[in-house]
Amino acid sequence: MAGVARPAAGGGGFRSTLVLVFLATAPDLDLALRLLDGANHHRGPSHSLGAALLAGVGVLALRRLGVSRLPGAIAAAAAWGSHVVLDYFGLDTTPPIGLMALWPWSGGFFASPVSIFYDVPRSFSLRAMRHNALAVFIEALVLLPLVWLAWGRPRSFQGAAAKLRGVR
Ligand SMILES: [Zn+2]
Repeated sequence: MAGVARPAAGGGGFRSTLVLVFLATAPDLDLALRLLDGANHHRGPSHSLGAALLAGVGVLALRRLGVSRLPGAIAAAAAWGSHVVLDYFGLDTTPPIGLMALWPWSGGFFASPVSIFYDVPRSFSLRAMRHNALAVFIEALVLLPLVWLAWGRPRSFQGAAAKLRGVR
């Protein structure tokens, strides 16, 4: 979904796109917090709109400090927020169900009543791998058209569309 945020960054460049991809995946770094205290912190405050706002403020601060070739603050917040939105629509079977989407304004866990995406079992059993392959297929089916739209339609399609409109 960072690809969707890319146009908001004014196209950016390769480095800007890499930063957006990092920000779009960074909320899952909370999995590593288990190494510190053994407790599960997954889908906590890092999976919130408040954290997305902080990501935007952080990028804005870095830009003000002179760090170049960064995406815009809104694109950064959108990249982080895209993770929150996509996880919100994902199936969650491990309590607490959902994510702290409205942290710091609410400590509650929120989950969509309708799941679009599958959960991801962390196992290498044949059953888990089959499940994950189906999950990847569904995610690709839903997200690739959005990425295609965000990154620009192929020129041949644009040319055909212009001909249909009578534009030369
Ligand atoms: Zn996540």
